[in-house]
Amino acid sequence: MTLFAKIIRREIPADIVYEDDDVLAFRDINPQAPVHVLFIPKKPFATMNELTDADAPLIGKLIVTAAKWARQQGFADDGYRVVMNCNRDGGQTVYHIHLHLLAGRALHWPPG
Ligand code: 5GP
Repeated sequence: MTLFAKIIRREIPADIVYEDDDVLAFRDINPQAPVHVLFIPKKPFATMNELTDADAPLIGKLIVTAAKWARQQGFADDGYRVVMNCNRDGGQTVYHIHLHLLAGRALHWPPG
């Protein structure tokens, strides 16, 4: 079982900021910006490579949930970045897909 599955099951503590039947969001333990939250589907997918057309509603909901939360928190007009890393070259380290939401400072482009 992955670390994030254990967070969903409350076997590992996390600073949870949002939850519904399909999505959990919690603060990254090693934040790369003043706001760094991970939005994860409760259904486990190891990487984006596992996604199929059938998963489009769930992944759409993940993104919309992050956008709604950003608006609620008040930083949406200033801006933010969402990122999903895939496998080695993408820099993925936890194999339960997650959307990083980064905000609170100007973010560089291109990323490293
Ligand atoms: P990835 O590198 O897979 O895209 O992102 C994994 C993220 O999970 C990293 O930003 C890392 O800091 C975060 N992370 C790793 N372990 C934990 C943990 O136990 N709790 C929380 N809240 N975040 C974690």
